[in-house]
Amino acid sequence: QMKDDGKNNYNIFKSIPSGGGIERLTLENSIRKALQLEEFVLYYQPQIDSKTGEIIGTEALVRWNHPTLGLIPPAKFIPIAEETGLIVPLGKWVLKTACLQHQKWKEKGFPPMRVSVNLSSRQFSKHDLVETIKEILLETHIDPSYLELEITESMTMNVEVAIEILGKLKELGILICIDDFGTGYSNLSYLKQFAIDRLKIDQSFVRDIMTDSNDADIVATVIAMAHKLGIDVIAEGVETKDQLNFLRSQNCHEVQGFYYYPPIPAEQIEQLLMQTTTIKTNLQG
Ligand code: C2E
Ligand code: MG
Ligand code: MG
Ligand code: MG
Repeated sequence: QMKDDGKNNYNIFKSIPSGGGIERLTLENSIRKALQLEEFVLYYQPQIDSKTGEIIGTEALVRWNHPTLGLIPPAKFIPIAEETGLIVPLGKWVLKTACLQHQKWKEKGFPPMRVSVNLSSRQFSKHDLVETIKEILLETHIDPSYLELEITESMTMNVEVAIEILGKLKELGILICIDDFGTGYSNLSYLKQFAIDRLKIDQSFVRDIMTDSNDADIVATVIAMAHKLGIDVIAEGVETKDQLNFLRSQNCHEVQGFYYYPPIPAEQIEQLLMQTTTIKTNLQG
């Protein structure tokens, strides 16, 4: 009976793995509804200059503020949003909200900070993505040099396509970071051809930096390679002073992790910025 329902249903069936189908479908509908009801919220995790300790950017990380279940982490809904294509409208909302937030902070007089937004592979197609970004730049008036997109290595697998999309994004003046660097497919020879501004060393390498000499070597080598290629480098998942010191000793430009701050709501970022501004003023005066 359901097979006769036509094309639309067929697409839904395809996205449901056997077992857990009902939960999937329910979740898909809930995500769609949550988008309409604006239940998603962005948290921001500071990115720190490893030399000065200054906050130079934030990464926007989406959460679902569910009316009864509370704050749901992205791992619980991003995969389904990706499978169902809902990541496209959700991703657009994330991009626009992050850019608007950047502008709000600017209007309040805080020194401008870069904002980084995660992209999913479903968003990474030239017609959609480039047009969406152009639209958002026009609507929000963000200075594009403060907007960074985080993509993963797997999105650069089709080299020709990646070069074209990244080239177009660079023409718009925005920044590109390779997230989770080292965990995916890497075609190192193309790093130079892609217009990459930053590599983000995956937290899985940072975690055991002090106990696993292989991980320490990998991290040191990636940082050295980035320096040689003229690409900035940031390490994520920095949780301890020792990890920070190791990264500093290797001249890793930036760090991000619980050692400094977890992802926090926009208002808490403002409080942080006010504190640090006060400290600076005190030091100067
Ligand atoms: P990611 O982009 O690699 O983000 C880093 C994750 O590590 C975040 O988890 C962050 O909260 C967590 N983290 C930060 N510092 C530390 C630390 O010191 N130690 C540890 N153990 N973890 C740390 P979160 O927010 O749960 O996000 C998980 C993933 O979900 C992200 O990984 C990203 O792939 C995806 N994601 C989040 N927001 C978005 C979004 O707006 N769009 C898309 N497409 N994906 C998103
Ligand atoms: Mg990221
Ligand atoms: Mg990452
Ligand atoms: Mg990750």
